[in-house]
Amino acid sequence: MNKTIILNNRPVGKPKPEDFKIVSEKLEKHLPEGEILLKTKYVSVDPYLRGRMTDADSYIPSFEINKPIESAIVGEVVESNNQSFSKGDFVTGLLDWKEQQKSDGEGLMKVNAEQAPLSAYLGVLGMTGLTAYLGLMNIGKPKAGETLVVSGAAGAVGSIAGQIGKILGLRVVGIAGSDEKNEMLKRDFGFDETINYKTTGNMTKAIADACPNGVDVYFDNVGGEVADAVMFNINDFARIVNCGAISIYNATEIPKSISVQPFLIQKRALMQGFIVMDHANQFSDAIGQLSQWLKEKKLTYTETIIEGFENIPQAFIDLFDGKNKGKMVVKV
Ligand code: NDP
Repeated sequence: MNKTIILNNRPVGKPKPEDFKIVSEKLEKHLPEGEILLKTKYVSVDPYLRGRMTDADSYIPSFEINKPIESAIVGEVVESNNQSFSKGDFVTGLLDWKEQQKSDGEGLMKVNAEQAPLSAYLGVLGMTGLTAYLGLMNIGKPKAGETLVVSGAAGAVGSIAGQIGKILGLRVVGIAGSDEKNEMLKRDFGFDETINYKTTGNMTKAIADACPNGVDVYFDNVGGEVADAVMFNINDFARIVNCGAISIYNATEIPKSISVQPFLIQKRALMQGFIVMDHANQFSDAIGQLSQWLKEKKLTYTETIIEGFENIPQAFIDLFDGKNKGKMVVKV
């Protein structure tokens, strides 16, 4: 029998374990011509999956109730009836939350377990690393000497975006939800200054104090009040990368926030939404650059690895309580 995780309900507010269901299904032994059988090794859990659990129109289709959830997965080819893949290959791509599954190989990319740990292809060398690099470069347009503020700074995207800022010679200020995370940002990732948004009363002032020259680039992973506080500190011609808004993903009402228009006009600033898949033509160059920095030890990363297929839903839920440092992945 093969375990699958399906969407049981569309979550209301913060997702709950009951919104997911583990079901067992029989896996047909026969492998049709052109297909491969994959065994799941690592599963990426990502905040954006929350949006796919609603039925709202978006850039990516909603999950269907009673159907498997999919996310980026690294799998091992355990049987192949497809000339492009051999038994023992490792691949990554958007796949179902299943212990084993068949695929025709479309959309899958082979990964090299000798070049990097398999889990890294879901993080620094996967979607979140690409998001950090391409979001920062294409919209943030960072210049040496400028100040970069990153929210969600201790997470998968934020921890890489901040380090890239340092590599490029910016002053980097990280905003995260615990002192322990903030210590890590300075100690392990070279951030210049950090702010704990959960214990800081006046975020606008804290950002002003941490950014004496103002904010030139804001890499926004969280939206909401943190993003509002940054707006009061932006410089002329600032660039704001709207990458994520996790503080709002579970909201049941449209949140109140400041009107950004006057800030953008006065400062002639740019605020632009970013979706990593729009930049797919740059993925290979971006992976090349991230790999090079990793090799040169200019870039490093951390992961929170949860063990066990059954724990995938809880690992996903825990993202909303900040239980991860760096990329949250589940080892199956
Ligand atoms: P993270 O690894 O950053 O995990 C989520 C983190 O968000 C938590 O650890 C927590 O850290 C923080 N968080 C949770 N709730 C709140 C809240 N209410 N307010 C502020 N922070 C909160 O996730 P990723 O790095 O994978 O993703 C970061 C953001 O980037 C997400 O918004 C995601 O949707 C977005 N994203 C966008 C992509 C795109 O193409 N646009 C692609 C990939 C990601 P803490 O302890 O600091 O609160």
